[in-house]
Order: sequence, then C-alpha cells, then structure tokens
Amino acid sequence: MLALPDTQARRRFRTKLLAWYRAHGRDLPWRRTTDPYHILVSEVMLQQTQVDRVIPKYHEWLTKFPSLEALATAPEDAVTKTWYPLGYNIRPKRLQAIAREAVANHEGALPADEETLRSFKGIGEYTAGAVLSFAFGRRAAILDTNVARVLFRVFVGRGDPKAHAMRRHLWEVSRAVLPHRHVFDFNQALMDFGATVCVARKPKCLLCPLARQCRSFPVS
Ligand code: SF4
Repeated sequence: MLALPDTQARRRFRTKLLAWYRAHGRDLPWRRTTDPYHILVSEVMLQQTQVDRVIPKYHEWLTKFPSLEALATAPEDAVTKTWYPLGYNIRPKRLQAIAREAVANHEGALPADEETLRSFKGIGEYTAGAVLSFAFGRRAAILDTNVARVLFRVFVGRGDPKAHAMRRHLWEVSRAVLPHRHVFDFNQALMDFGATVCVARKPKCLLCPLARQCRSFPVS
C-alpha cells in the first residue's frame, strides 16, 4: 500500500512549486481567463497537442465560436475545418456535443459541480478538475500525463507509473498536495513544471527546486 505524502512534504512541495511558477511560469492566454468555455476549449486542445500549436488555434476558435451557443449551432463542417490541423478529430466533435448539451439542458453554460460536469459525454475526471479549478476556483485536483509524471517521480519513484492502481494513487496524491488557496496557480504550476522541467526525457534535475525531496533524483 503506497503512502500519501505527510503534511510537511505537502507543504514543502506546494511552497517550492508555487515559488518556481511565480518566477518561471509561462504566460499563456488561457491563464488570463476564468471563462469556463474558454478553459474547456484550451484543455481539450491541449490534450494531444503542444502549447505553441494550440495558441493560434485557440484564438481562431474563440473568434469563430465565441460562446457555447455559437458552437452548438455552428455547421459541423465549419467546426471540423476550424480544428484543422490539430488532429485527433474526435475532439471538435466532442466539444460541439458538449456545447449542444449545455445549450439544451443547462441554459448555455457549463455547470459548476463535478457530478453534473462528469455527466457530459467527453468530460472526464481530468477535464472536470481543470474546469472546476481554473474556471470556478474550486479545490479540484487534476492529473494529466505531465502532472502524473511529476507526482510519480517526486512522491513514489518506484513501480509502474502506468499501472491502473498507480494512476489511482497519483490521483490521491494530487488531491493530497492541493493547497486550500491559490488552486488555480498550483494546478497551472504542476502542468507547467511537468512540461518544461520534469519532462519525460532528460528532466532538468540539476536545476530542479524539488530535487531535495524528489524520490527519483537524479533521473539520468
Ligand atoms: S529532481 Fe528531476 S525527476 Fe525529480 S522533480 Fe525535479 S526534474 Fe523531476
């Protein structure tokens, strides 16, 4: 049975990560909004695509489909064409289905509670956590590939990071380390740290502010 980080380890991790983010976090357009629809679009685009490819498409998409209602009523071929060339073309279809459900059953808005959000086809555990924490300021955990890698390396360091039981454990770790304040920044910091420092290959361990508490240090 894997243990969760103790209070001191959680506090140290939050403090170091937030300090790193304030100094090095990237200025990305979806970090300047709390609009639930804008957050949703950015999260769905980022699921399989690099940030630098997402930025221009995010702006284009929101210019063409500025609201859930506009997306819900847009012709399907316009939605697919606008998505091009991001790939994984099920994603624009899912976004439009979410928009249609929001318009049909939720007065054109995304709900602010997890259970209702998760009832939308296309909104899983990760996307719900992102929308709740980034748009609604809720204390909701996230776990995407980058975040899972960081939490696994820092707090576990052994075993199979892709095993189902490990994935469930990492969700618990993500909930455990979540602060009560600055949840938006903390979750953004986790994602950014995994994307720029604790990367999959050749992580920057020698420059890492978490090195002293990391169970995987140094990754060669
Ligand atoms: S020491 Fe290396 S493996 Fe550990 S968190 Fe930092 S970058 Fe990641």
